[in-house]
Amino acid sequence: RRLAEGLTKTRNNIVSGMDAIFSGFSDIDDDFYDEIEEILVMGDIGINATTAIIANLKQKVKEQHIKNPQECKELLINSIKEQMQVGETAYEFEHRTSVVLVIGVNGVGKTTSVGKLAGKLKDQGRKVILAAADTFRAAAGEQLTEWANRAGVEIIGGSEGADPASVVYDAVCAAKARKADVLLIDTAGRLHNKKNLMEELKKIDRIIEREFPDAYRETLVVLDGTTGQNALEQARQFGEVADLTGIILTKLDGTAKGGIAVAIQSELNIPVKYIGVGEHIDDLQKFDADTFVNALFL
Ligand code: GDP
Repeated sequence: RRLAEGLTKTRNNIVSGMDAIFSGFSDIDDDFYDEIEEILVMGDIGINATTAIIANLKQKVKEQHIKNPQECKELLINSIKEQMQVGETAYEFEHRTSVVLVIGVNGVGKTTSVGKLAGKLKDQGRKVILAAADTFRAAAGEQLTEWANRAGVEIIGGSEGADPASVVYDAVCAAKARKADVLLIDTAGRLHNKKNLMEELKKIDRIIEREFPDAYRETLVVLDGTTGQNALEQARQFGEVADLTGIILTKLDGTAKGGIAVAIQSELNIPVKYIGVGEHIDDLQKFDADTFVNALFL
């Protein structure tokens, strides 16, 4: 129910129009499909995912000899869920040490998400260490320190302008010495300078590989859900400089564009692992496509 509340705007955007279509049409015809298509596209599900979803729906209608538009709602929900299937969805941090690199451009909610994730993992009994490797933005370290205090976890920082890789090195050493379960690394994401970013990430990667060859690795990109299709484009660009294992989609509480989660999973085949539905430390939820679609439609 909390999820449905957090998604209220997206829900209103998609569901009311959808229900009007299901009850307003007496036949399943081209107009019926066109209207569903329009709602999905307006709901930021994206044209490619929408086209695939409609094709899937049409096939289901045909195979199951459905005549009544009202019966299409469940079929549509299932088509959306199928479209969101991604190859690899395991995202529980394993028992060996996990090293999680978090990237994303300024303002998307990266530091906030790292802080929330630290709190969540700590609550699960994990020993967490934060690395403030976003040494590019002056306030990032202080902000992350506040989150570390709130979550009750240790933080390794560097002074402004310090080499992010050296902060990562210090943090890796600390994680080893303290036998941490999870090392969460907050990094700067300067997409306008891809070459620099790529080199920086490679350097960080080499340090982790060298110092922690057995670690379970994740690279999560944080995207601002309120930016809709731009978030998709950002994920694509980050995908060009890093091997992304997942996405944290933030600010879904303030937007009607939550359908972007469908577009991201279906078009990029990268799992959304967490969603942000508020500014509080508890407002980061594990993402599950079926639960998400149910919250939107049921
Ligand atoms: P960063 O520059 O990417 O590290 O972004 P911040 O973590 O500083 O977040 C930018 C702003 O977005 C802050 O005001 C956060 O409180 C806000 N924010 C982050 N996540 C969420 C969310 O899920 N919901 C809402 N409503 N605000 C969020």
